[in-house]
Amino acid sequence: MLNATVITMNRRREIIQDGAVAIEGNKVIDVGKTKKIKSLHRGEVKIDCSGKLVLPGLVDCHVHLAQALIRGCADDMALIPWLRDRVLPLQGTYTPKEGELSAKLCCIEMIKSGTTTFVESLLHWRYGFNEIARAVEKIGIRGVLSKSLMNIPGYASHKDAIPEGMVEDGETTMRQTIEMIRRWHGKANNRIHIWFGARTPGACTVDFYREISENARKFKTGITIHLGEVKTDLQFLRKEFRMTPMEFMRHCDMVGPNIIYAHGVWIPPSDFKILRKTRGTVCHCPASNLKLASGFAFIPEMLNAGINVALGCDGGPSNNCYDMIREMKLAALIHKARLFDPEALPAETVLEMATLNGARATLWSKELGSIERGKLADLIIINQFSSHLVPVRNPVSNLVYAANGGDVDTVIIDGKIIMKGRKIITENEEEVIQRAMDVGPDVDKRIGLNIRSRWPLK
Ligand SMILES: [Zn+2]
Repeated sequence: MLNATVITMNRRREIIQDGAVAIEGNKVIDVGKTKKIKSLHRGEVKIDCSGKLVLPGLVDCHVHLAQALIRGCADDMALIPWLRDRVLPLQGTYTPKEGELSAKLCCIEMIKSGTTTFVESLLHWRYGFNEIARAVEKIGIRGVLSKSLMNIPGYASHKDAIPEGMVEDGETTMRQTIEMIRRWHGKANNRIHIWFGARTPGACTVDFYREISENARKFKTGITIHLGEVKTDLQFLRKEFRMTPMEFMRHCDMVGPNIIYAHGVWIPPSDFKILRKTRGTVCHCPASNLKLASGFAFIPEMLNAGINVALGCDGGPSNNCYDMIREMKLAALIHKARLFDPEALPAETVLEMATLNGARATLWSKELGSIERGKLADLIIINQFSSHLVPVRNPVSNLVYAANGGDVDTVIIDGKIIMKGRKIITENEEEVIQRAMDVGPDVDKRIGLNIRSRWPLK
């Protein structure tokens, strides 16, 4: 990559004008001024990046792959009916083929908007875990696949919240997770990691959470859980256990640097001490929290308290897209208005959340998050030659406030070009889109749903 503006995200946060990145195999071997890099490295493939930005690939720390196919199935609804009447029943009818199709659709969308690493948080067995892992392997993205674990069919105090097609039992979910760790963890040249996807409080007993934590340590892997997403979560833990969300997590041994707590809207400031001490990550999902009216997480406050905060897009019914660039803008904006403070969460901090903090959250901080010698070559190239991106005064500001996923031109993951000139090389994008258009309505019909435009279709 030559003649680029390189946002390195290195320790000094250097931005190299007329910069170049040299890649060998799957690693960055050098980064600096184009003239210097050209004189030191020959490079078989040269990508001219004149007028373009090069930055580390974005890390989406909270994704539901299986929800791309049910995009727009539950707009403008409250969380419990949203989940109980639409999202879970629809996913509860999936065949492995549909799970795989949804994952492909989601991965294409993520790559096309600059995400190179994602954390899938709850993969039900019925979505076809092996098929999804194979799809991730083929398309070339880097991903954490978390197998869902539960031993009560509930959500907070709602005992009937999980419909039949989505109920799993503790023993089976644990066995399947361990089976998938043995089969897939570290596969695809270490692009695929398998984590424990513990379901939300109300779906697991305290002992089961403890077992999950113990096994995550044993297999040296991570855990992700939805925590304090809506007010009900907080009220449930208060009523049942007389604890705050993080007190409950500590009680269940679900604390540590290998845990991502998704949403964290209702994690109170009194919990910050536990979070900082145990070095867990909170994954902020602003679009989802806004759309479901869940509330505003204390993100600038958490960052000020020294807590690692990453960023996530969540899913097709709650966002409804998987575009981390749009997500960065939302994150940067909503806290300014909440705090009446335009200086809250500047663009640079948000980009750190989407790169370095995500790398730390996924336990890949030594390999990802910045463009530096020895790190993995997961990079994206943004085309700045666009009416909405000029003139360039501060490239980070342009990226966070003015760009969108459609500005991503080229994506390199693990040293391989996965998308070039917006064309995905490793998968047949047109075919996936066509199949998604055909299959989507079929899934709705199975549960008797007929979602149409609210305005008359002529
Ligand atoms: Zn979620």
